[in-house]
Amino acid sequence: MTQAAAVSADIVLHNAFVVTMDGALTVLRDGAIAVVGDRIAAVGPSADVLGAFPGAAQTLNLAGRILLPGFVNTHVHTSQQLARGIADDVDLMTWLHGRIWPYESHMTEEDSYASTLLCGIELIRSGVTCFAEAGGQYVSEMARAVELLGLRACLTKSTMDCGDGLPPNWSSCSTDDCIQVCLQIGIRITFLNTVT
Ligand SMILES: [Zn+2]
Repeated sequence: MTQAAAVSADIVLHNAFVVTMDGALTVLRDGAIAVVGDRIAAVGPSADVLGAFPGAAQTLNLAGRILLPGFVNTHVHTSQQLARGIADDVDLMTWLHGRIWPYESHMTEEDSYASTLLCGIELIRSGVTCFAEAGGQYVSEMARAVELLGLRACLTKSTMDCGDGLPPNWSSCSTDDCIQVCLQIGIRITFLNTVT
């Protein structure tokens, strides 16, 4: 996994349990990684990586700590970050109909942006580098926050046009309307990814 260093590393982290998640699920007991810019340039035994990058700007002995790839959270509602505490004490349907739907249906685009930023900061602090949004309202604002945070994400708009207790401003959106909104969001995100 190590290779001859063509450039100096910004940092070499060594003396760690490195969980590589490669095809063979290799775990290195005294492993190291070298980072150049925002890329992992080498992974391997500490002696090999330290030897390949002798001029690293920073060398950090992790003393047996664990290095592993970022976690992937597969079910996140970024919009609900700001709703912490408004529905901790109720049953599921009261939570949904009486608290969360009224809250989410009154969110603004700026609320969605702020909620996603806060949610993303918590995800990063938990070791998450990629997540799947399970459904919110303003995907363009989620995307704006995710780009700023440097996370990877699959974002989606929650769409419902029937069901008990649905907020009026959601139920007025037909299935065709929802599909059109999602298509427009897809076009915008493609554009954002192209220009950044
Ligand atoms: Zn959910």
